[in-house]
Amino acid sequence: MYRLVNKTKLSLLQGDITRQSTDAIVNAANSGMMGGGGVDGAIHRAGGPAILEDCKQIISQQGRLPTGEAVITSGGNLQAKHVVHTVGPVWHGGLSSEPELLASAYRQSLRISVENGLKSISFPSISTGAYGYPLKLAAPIALETVIDFLNRDESIKEVVFVLFEDKTYQAYARALEALLPETA
Ligand code: ADP
Repeated sequence: MYRLVNKTKLSLLQGDITRQSTDAIVNAANSGMMGGGGVDGAIHRAGGPAILEDCKQIISQQGRLPTGEAVITSGGNLQAKHVVHTVGPVWHGGLSSEPELLASAYRQSLRISVENGLKSISFPSISTGAYGYPLKLAAPIALETVIDFLNRDESIKEVVFVLFEDKTYQAYARALEALLPETA
């Protein structure tokens, strides 16, 4: 499913983000940036050691990546030329700034992509795996944040949410339909 936002195509698809050919794919990383499970492990496995080398360089220069921030590396062997690494919040019940930090992870990922002249970007569902953010709460925040950004900035031409599991796709599809109903 897709919607046009400003002049940008915003689409949802079910699949594996490592196979996307957008200019960048976003990694739901952790602050240490040394790889991990879930989508992080899949991206490092598919992209090879060049990504980890870039991550180590960044950590040695600026230390751990704070929650809600984003950095960019090469895409190694991926079709995407770049990986944007961001750290979503761990869910602690919702009263520890989780919504703001989740929105920030999406916003900073878009911002660094624009700064690097990128035109297309793919996101996974940040924080809803190991980090435990409830899917029904995360999906509208993810979509609202991206839509708001696209309404202010026209340089990105395509945003794709690549959702690994059917229930994740369904939650995002419902949230997108609620935010931008299909006009008859
Ligand atoms: P977090 O630690 O931010 O919760 P996870 O990687 O544990 O990150 O989970 C985030 C989402 O990414 C989950 O919905 C998970 O199913 C999904 N995911 C796992 N592997 C992939 C993949 N190859 N492509 C896209 N999404 C993936």
